[in-house]
Parts: sequence; C-alpha cells; structure tokens
Amino acid sequence: MSISPERIVGQDLMDIYQKVESGERLTREDGIRLYETKNLTGVGYMANLVRERLHGKKTYYVRNQHINYTNICNKFCKFCSFYAKKGGPDPYEYSIEEVKRRLQWHKDVLLTEIHMVGGINPRLPYQYYLDLIGVVKETLPGVHVKAFTAVEIEQIANKGGVSHEQALRDLIEAGLDSLPGGGIEILSDRVHRELFGRKLDGEGWKSVSRAASKLGLTQYATMLYGHIETTEERVDHFVQLRELQDETKNFVCFTPLSFHPEGTELADVKPLTGDQDLRNIAVSRLMLDNFAHIKSFWIMNTPEVTQASLWYGADDTDGLVHEYEITYKEGDFGNKKQALTYSNMVHMIREVGREPIERDSLYQEIKRTEEELASPQKRGLTPISVTN
Ligand code: SF4
Repeated sequence: MSISPERIVGQDLMDIYQKVESGERLTREDGIRLYETKNLTGVGYMANLVRERLHGKKTYYVRNQHINYTNICNKFCKFCSFYAKKGGPDPYEYSIEEVKRRLQWHKDVLLTEIHMVGGINPRLPYQYYLDLIGVVKETLPGVHVKAFTAVEIEQIANKGGVSHEQALRDLIEAGLDSLPGGGIEILSDRVHRELFGRKLDGEGWKSVSRAASKLGLTQYATMLYGHIETTEERVDHFVQLRELQDETKNFVCFTPLSFHPEGTELADVKPLTGDQDLRNIAVSRLMLDNFAHIKSFWIMNTPEVTQASLWYGADDTDGLVHEYEITYKEGDFGNKKQALTYSNMVHMIREVGREPIERDSLYQEIKRTEEELASPQKRGLTPISVTN
C-alpha cells in the first residue's frame, strides 16, 4: 500500500507540493515556510522528488585534491578558522615547488580535479597565481583546475593592476578551468558588514561571476549557513543566485556549507544539527530549480549526514578529497588531512540505495577499466581519517 503525498507532506504544505510536482517555481515565501515547518520529512520528500526527476538514483563523486596554497590573509573574517592568527594555525605560503611536490604525492592516483583556494596574502605577486595554475597543468596534464573564489580574483586583479575580466583571461590562458564559488558566504549586506566587511560585497561577487560567465568559465556556488544569518537571508541568497543563474547559465552545482564555530570568533554560536544540515540541502534543491546539481560536502556534513542527504535532495558528495585544510578540528592544527578511499565512497553511497557514479568536474560520467579499478594505488587508497 502506498502512502499518499498528503500524509507525508501534510495539509499545510500541499500547495508547495503541487508546485513541486508540476515544476512551478517556488516563491520567497514558500522558501521561508520550508525552513519554518517542523515537518522536515515532508520537505525532504519534496526535494527527493526533484532529485529523482533529474538524476534518478545516480550519486556523483569526483577524484580530487585540494590545495590551500596559503593561510596568510588580511580579511580577518569572523567565521574563519583557517587563516593564521595568534592561538590558531601557524602561517604558511607554498612556493610553486612545494605545490609541485604536493601534486606529485598523488601522481599515481586517478585524480581528475585540483581544487585550489587560499587566503588573501598581500605578498603574493600576480605572476604567482599564473604559475600556480601552470604548475598543475605541467605536473598533471589533462587535470581540471578549479581555483580561486571571487575574492581571490579581485586580489589577483588588484595585484596585476588589471580588470577582473583581464585577470580571468590571463588565468584561463594559464589553464584555469572553473571557479569554485565561495567568497561571498551569503548574499546579505548585513551579514557582510558584521562578519566579513573587508571582503568584496555581494554586488562585487556578482560582478566577478558575470565577468567569468562572459568568458564561458564554469562556476559553482555555495552558501555558508549556521552563523548569524536569518531564515529570510538564506532564502534571499537562493533567490539572488537563481536570478543570476537565469541570466548567466554558468553554474553547474550548488553546495550549502555548514558553519563550524570551533576556532573562530563565533565560537559561542551553537553547532548545527542534522535537521539543519538536511533542511539546507532540501530547501536549496527546491528553491534552486535552475541548478542541475546539489552537493552534500561530506567533509563538512559528515559521511553519515551525507548518506541521509542523498534522500533529501543531494545528488553529489564532492569527492575522495586528498587533503583539505579549511575546517578547523580542535587540537589538530598540524594534521587536517581528510580523505575517503574509493571503497569507502562507493560503500557510503550504495549502503543507502543510491548508485555511485564517478564524474569529472563538468559532471560527465567517467567509466573506469577493470585494470584501473583493480590497482589499489590508482583507485586512491589513502588512509581514511574522517573526523569532525
Ligand atoms: Fe581570509 Fe577567506 Fe578566511 Fe576570510 S574566509 S579570513 S578571506 S581565508
């Protein structure tokens, strides 16, 4: 016997369910109601309808390595535990040779993407950023380089004394393939003023995004939630991203990023709950009707919440992630390496009845040969270290 949608969604949300079923765009008010209802199951049910309509059981992952080239930063964002500060992580700045050395650590692993972001380090010259891209392409030919938030693009352009567009052209010529999103955290002038006023604002972020779109650069988008933002500000973020996507059509994926207060100036903020993590995945799936993919970034959400999120709207988990240094773990400044092995990833997805699909950075499916999958080294068997 099947259960009627009305029993799952409830009478209160049936008008939203009917819109979701017919593919009608949800309004700002609908978004606020989806955050306010206690019926998370109903919200997840509707998000899953959209997820399965677009992707069925498919769940994507990528083989990537993150390189965070410096943690020296002059923006001092209050939510950030990554930048070097007294009582926090020691400062570092990778030379191009050091980046090359780190790329070579994983040279025999089947990496398809290098994801590079860092702090706003005023000492780094324009040429450094071009060389950073160049060394990746030289060391791992054919790999996709996803690098630099809009804030970094602004810094790079300032360093070179050129426009955003010219900086992007030069970076593309050096080998840049896409922009990872991030940098704006949430499109709210109030939150910008209170938490990260030294970085470029929402309009500046959109202007970089428009310049990148003009050049045909693929982009990803994010939202940092769980700090001081209101429900309305979250929904306004979705509405603004949706409008930008209508205009540019260059975003391929959206990732809600859960805020981790440890080691930040907002250490007193209550840690997020599973309800909040799942709800942000689900509401983003429902509001961002023109984004093909919604990612549950397992490093921030934990593998356990990521498993559940695959039934709440998410169709992507990010990847095997060789090295990641952004999220602070108490007492562990010197050792923030986190990775999932290939078999852990596949198991995590299959265990909840979804189908693991390796993808490239543009969501093209990748088929591996038996020989590739039989080689432990090529499969990417790095030691698992997953703690949050
Ligand atoms: Fe710097 Fe980025 Fe951290 Fe802000 S979030 S302090 S820009 S590293």
